[in-house]
Amino acid sequence: MTWIDLPADTPFGPDNLPLGVFRLGDEEPRIGAAIGDHLIDLAPVASAQMLDGSQLFNQPTLNAFLARGRATWKATREWLLDLARNPNSRDAVEPHLIPRSEVTMQLPFEVADYVDFYASEVHASNLGRLFRPDSEPLLPNWKHLPVGYHGRAGTVVASGTDIVRPRGQRKPPTADVPSYGPSERLDIEVELGFVVGTPSALGTPVRVDSFEDHVYGVVLVNDWSARDLQAWEYVPLGPFLGKSFATSISPWVVSLEALKDAAVPLAPQDPPVLPYLAGAELTNPDITFEVRWNGQLVSTPPYRGMYWSPAQMLAHLSVNGASVRTGDLFASGTVSGPEKDQRGSFIELSWGGREPVTVNDEQRTFLQDGDEVTISGWATTSDGRKLGLGEVTGRITPALG
Ligand code: CA
Repeated sequence: MTWIDLPADTPFGPDNLPLGVFRLGDEEPRIGAAIGDHLIDLAPVASAQMLDGSQLFNQPTLNAFLARGRATWKATREWLLDLARNPNSRDAVEPHLIPRSEVTMQLPFEVADYVDFYASEVHASNLGRLFRPDSEPLLPNWKHLPVGYHGRAGTVVASGTDIVRPRGQRKPPTADVPSYGPSERLDIEVELGFVVGTPSALGTPVRVDSFEDHVYGVVLVNDWSARDLQAWEYVPLGPFLGKSFATSISPWVVSLEALKDAAVPLAPQDPPVLPYLAGAELTNPDITFEVRWNGQLVSTPPYRGMYWSPAQMLAHLSVNGASVRTGDLFASGTVSGPEKDQRGSFIELSWGGREPVTVNDEQRTFLQDGDEVTISGWATTSDGRKLGLGEVTGRITPALG
């Protein structure tokens, strides 16, 4: 399949070839494609082959490449597949294979706007029970539209960035008045992020069946969440400071083209959705996440059962005529499956802190300073192949004065 030596269980086989931005020593950051334990330094290879658009890879972000649109994405994928598979490409590529252990990965694209959805019925129901124990877990709109909010694009950070424990205002149910201080209920949210390449025109909604014309690929997302800040602030306008301090994304953007054999049909939606959210071939990627808390595997959330498909999310976020831009990121919302060990946040895993989780022989609920959380993800194709999304990791550091 490929002339490059690959570890047996690599997330980045010759069918995957995700793109990311790396820095080698003090050289300018530029674009690479991951394969096995290496990356292909694309700028010199493209330049030597006089590839149309070769300057797209000598860039500190993927944005220029993303903006080129679907024809360029497809042509680039064909080129990458040939580099990885064709023995005749070896002489051109081999001098530009760099061990991934030698580079520092950067934020892969400059994030334009950031939207976060809430597309898992299990997660929305669990959070409803925890935040509003005296009412119906799902609010009346939930099965009629993909609920979401606009997040803070400027605090989307590269995997590996330390997360400073946020401070803020909170009021436990037992307190009479609010107080201020470091969050005591710092949490994660396991999500899948969708990366927009092709913009849309202001006033023109993106149709459900145009999803693949606009979205290039996916990244792993950890939507760090301060539950105590969130619980006090979120009514009536939704998440704000409990979310905006940091959102981590994985460095390698896996293309929809690479994932196309890993798509599974969306489960039937009841009640039926409005026509602008309906599509003949709605799918979800069949991805399973692994959540490691200080190295210990604590959860394996499955994406395939998410209620709303990403095409519906894009159609909904633009249905009022809001345009999308190159570099827009929209995330799925927390991915939680029906089993306890498939929950994608610690507030669910520990059921509001009442049922501690055993982490390396300690009883734990929310994040402590020094804790590290690593989320990885694997897609499974219909013929059983595995494509990795890599990982997104972050460590909690103490709140600053
Ligand atoms: Ca979220």
